[in-house]
Amino acid sequence: MILLSAMETKLIGFGYLKELYKDDEDFGAIFVQCAQQAIDRFHQVNGFLFRDSKLCIPRSSTRELLIREVHGGGIAGHFGVDKTLAMLQEHFYWPRMEKQVRGLIARCATCQQAKSRVQPQGLYTPLPVPERPWEHVSMDFVLGLPRTQRRKDSIMVVVDRFSKMAHFIPCQKTDDATNVADLYFREVLRLHGVPKSIVSDRDTKFLSYFWKTLWHKLGTKLVFSTAYHPQTDGQTEVVNRTMAAILRTLVSKNQKDWDIKLAHAEFAYNRAPSSTTKSSPFQVVYGLNPLVPVELMPASDMRSVSRDAEERVKDHSRSR
Ligand SMILES: [Zn+2]
Repeated sequence: MILLSAMETKLIGFGYLKELYKDDEDFGAIFVQCAQQAIDRFHQVNGFLFRDSKLCIPRSSTRELLIREVHGGGIAGHFGVDKTLAMLQEHFYWPRMEKQVRGLIARCATCQQAKSRVQPQGLYTPLPVPERPWEHVSMDFVLGLPRTQRRKDSIMVVVDRFSKMAHFIPCQKTDDATNVADLYFREVLRLHGVPKSIVSDRDTKFLSYFWKTLWHKLGTKLVFSTAYHPQTDGQTEVVNRTMAAILRTLVSKNQKDWDIKLAHAEFAYNRAPSSTTKSSPFQVVYGLNPLVPVELMPASDMRSVSRDAEERVKDHSRSR
């Protein structure tokens, strides 16, 4: 017999919200009326009040707690008002949420500190128009950062130009094309397959050697030709601001161990809605957002409808 262990996580400590509704200035009247039947957009589930599918949060410190979690929690990225608000509104409702979010972000010490530092440059460059995720990628380097205990001093930023999904990979300024090909294989190709094209801020010699090494590692006997297209400066896109902001905040806050915290930053970036598509990179690539702590709330309505894996694949490929 095999003994299996299982861990399950649910957020606790939110039950007291139920006690607050009836005397709440924002929701008291609605809550009492909703006890029998749904009114307008409001209804009750297990003693929790919902507006459409959003959990109503009564006036309490929980409002601030949730804003702090979504804006600056461990795997959050200290995003601005619009993104923070959009992420909160996925699940929660209370009146004047925007005003409160704005106020809290304006007072966030981490954000203020990060703003005063200089921005890293040259993170992101575009080329042919991609039609599916991880077909055309950009690979850029943020060099010369404070050296961590693990002797990392640079970040390799690999971005899928279709979904904007990114991987932040700690590396060393002295890494040569072979090291970088190893890293790429392990951290990107493993998850997303072979790219048709790569644009980079590195020189041609480096890039062509990298490209050769990468294909060599695939062990294929098929023969490919490689074309090199020089990029004019005019085509270089402005630094992806969101990404620059995240990395800046991260490095300035964790001078000795930013390499370990890169995973947090990467998650935050990929989970946040992009300003052009309104969807997060995760949504574009996987069709859904991975769960974050605030979503483990004890109310059934919070989860999206569950389906089996086969159905998901069908839906997902149909929407492409
Ligand atoms: Zn902040």
